Amino acid sequence: MRRSGRHFVSSFLLCLFLILPSKLAAQTQPSTGSASSEQGTQAESPQQASQDVKAYTLPPDLYEKAVKYSRAQYILYFAGFVWGVVVLLLVLAWRLAPKYRDWAERATSIRFLQAVIFTPIILLTIAVLSLPVDIYGHWLSRSYGISVQSWGSWAGDWAKGQILSFILGIILVWILYAIIRHSPRRWWLYFWLAALPILFFVIFLSPVVIDPMFNKFEPLQNTDPQLVTALEEVVHRAHMNIPPDRMFLMRASEKTNAVDAYVTGMGASKRVVVWDTTIEKMTVPETMFVFGHEMGHYVLNHVYKGLVFGALLAFVLLYVGFRGTLWTLSRCSDGWGIRGTDDWASLPVLLLWITILGFVTAPLSNTFSRYIEHQADQYGLEVTHGLFPDSKQVAARAFQILGEVDLSDPNPNPFIKVWLFSHPPLAERVNFALTYDPWAQGKQPEFVKGQ
Ligand SMILES: [Zn+2]
Repeated sequence: MRRSGRHFVSSFLLCLFLILPSKLAAQTQPSTGSASSEQGTQAESPQQASQDVKAYTLPPDLYEKAVKYSRAQYILYFAGFVWGVVVLLLVLAWRLAPKYRDWAERATSIRFLQAVIFTPIILLTIAVLSLPVDIYGHWLSRSYGISVQSWGSWAGDWAKGQILSFILGIILVWILYAIIRHSPRRWWLYFWLAALPILFFVIFLSPVVIDPMFNKFEPLQNTDPQLVTALEEVVHRAHMNIPPDRMFLMRASEKTNAVDAYVTGMGASKRVVVWDTTIEKMTVPETMFVFGHEMGHYVLNHVYKGLVFGALLAFVLLYVGFRGTLWTLSRCSDGWGIRGTDDWASLPVLLLWITILGFVTAPLSNTFSRYIEHQADQYGLEVTHGLFPDSKQVAARAFQILGEVDLSDPNPNPFIKVWLFSHPPLAERVNFALTYDPWAQGKQPEFVKGQ
């Protein structure tokens, strides 16, 4: 369901180097959030009792707010990218990496310990220089009433995110430079191979180890057994098997007003997570539809498909990054005090290339993401069809609430949609919910057969 989720599509290397740390930070300022200054429990949205949803529409005040908020988010996104590039160029121009490399090499001749010294300092430098963008993002989210997280708690999450990125960074940087020294021409290929199992491991551990560092999770069975019963109805409908111990509630309301749900983990850690805000703001049938969408991700193996997509993209990115780094160093290495690709100090150059390539390929990743999100919407519609009266209308209302609460752009321009939207715009999703009807034409639905 998530609007800004990077759960399914994360370009593999970006995930390792950049997105994972930023994803960790993003957990503190979840997604593109909510309007509502109306806090606490509202069992019913104002929309639903009265009239049918015919399209994604907002009342004039909310409309204006959503447009302004979205615009600010888009500016933040593009300015954030530019700032990220500037930060890396400053790090290079100020010759910070060679300085840190000297510290590390003077302290020890053991390569691993050099990585332990060099990596956290360089990552922290980049993170601190990037702070203005992060702080502005949280300020924006708070000022529009989406985030309710205090600055103290936000700072705590930022620090935790840094520590995690240090741990992961040390391992990856150590492996990367060991490979570069062994194979200066093929390192991009061998590093790609070496990083694959690490990424699998991180995704596997993420719901069990990393996510609980930022939010509280409880088995849905403990907090809302009735909802579990309703959700099991959806599961049985599809002749699937998602045991209740794989359904979790996340206490998102401590930090945000936004509504969301997602699928995460792999193998034994694979699970569906529903935010408590979603349960508060939606009716049981609406939550069942949201769950149906998540179940679509679950049974259509979107986590794995996202991984394969990300791995393929990373393969290309690493190769281009390899060529790009060589090219850059052949021109600028003297001025920047970098000895060569196998020097720890070349890391910011590689990060610069990854940042630029990640930005340039965002339309590709997001187009893939929109495709699987659309599939999940369709799955949700199919699996809830006939479970309660007027399931199309229920789905449309769920989207309408999502839009009102998260202040979703009513009318993003096509460029913005292609570049930034990981999900189809809500206007399209509502429209699809209201018009998707293979049953009326006597056809079998695509995913959930035999109804
Ligand atoms: Zn989704």
